[in-house]
Amino acid sequence: MIRKIIIALIACSAFASLATQYPITIAIHGGAGTIDKNKMTAAMQVKYKSKLKEAVDKGYAVMEKGGTSQQAVIAAIQVLEDSPLFNAGRGAVYTFEGEHELDASIMYGKTLNAGAVAGVKQVKSPIALAEQVMENSVHVLLSGQGAEEFAKRQGIELVENSYFDTKKRYESLLKAKKKIAEKLAKSKSIKAAYQQLDVKYKYGTVGAVALDQYGDLTAGTSTGGMTAKRFGRIGDSPIIGAGTYANNDSCAVSATGHGEYFIRYHVAADICARMQYQGISLQDAADTVINKVLVKAGGSGGIIAVDRQGNIAMPFNSSGMYRASRKQGESAVVKIFKE
Ligand code: ASP
Repeated sequence: MIRKIIIALIACSAFASLATQYPITIAIHGGAGTIDKNKMTAAMQVKYKSKLKEAVDKGYAVMEKGGTSQQAVIAAIQVLEDSPLFNAGRGAVYTFEGEHELDASIMYGKTLNAGAVAGVKQVKSPIALAEQVMENSVHVLLSGQGAEEFAKRQGIELVENSYFDTKKRYESLLKAKKKIAEKLAKSKSIKAAYQQLDVKYKYGTVGAVALDQYGDLTAGTSTGGMTAKRFGRIGDSPIIGAGTYANNDSCAVSATGHGEYFIRYHVAADICARMQYQGISLQDAADTVINKVLVKAGGSGGIIAVDRQGNIAMPFNSSGMYRASRKQGESAVVKIFKE
């Protein structure tokens, strides 16, 4: 009799813990911008889609095996950082001087802990260093040489700056510089010359957001920034609240787009705050910020977001955004253009 009661109790508690599990969910992006359907061959689309699928599946598998959303976000982002297709890690865009300066950040929604790095030149995986800043430093954002010194101490892999080189991005730099020179010859205003740069020189950041079975949210973002950027320019990606934000009380967001606007409009945190204070859905909050507030301001780009119920929102106001998502018990959904 006692044995039966014990078995019944164990069964009940197993059921209760299953019932309180959250639906594991992950969404990723590989940048938003002018992605021209007519100029993108079917073979290129397949290449991008299969890398996005690999990344989202990798993050999902981590959580399926009991891992946390933090581990899933890192795993997914590292697949994209290692791929030359995206503007993060290998394949990062070039600065005006012909180098690579990388930015990344991560935020954990359970504790509101966050870590970020900006302007690093030798760190193979900037998102891994951002995680180290979050876990093992007393600071939130480290930059330049200091961040690299910290990386050495933490045993983070360093590479030559040329490791990030790709022909495609170098050609984009040459085109951008030519355009800047042409504009400067006409107007003499550096600001105007940069503002008129074709948007396609600006995008390609990667990011991931996830909800694990424990109900904890994480967001992470990694980027090479903007082609031909100058003077130590830092974008929104390593700025907590602008390019990345996560809070278990609302949602997790990773952004991509014209970083200056995302900083000024505090995009990621604004979406979470609207959900929390206005009691509106994730989709409504995300849509309002991307398709109303940012459009009115002239800022192009998009975000991916997930909430604690496993809802996903991925609005963008550009012609495309490389993106993928996967919900519990479902297979990955991968998209590039507006549908
Ligand atoms: N937001 C990034 C930046 O401004 C660029 C991007 O998303 O591609 O640095």
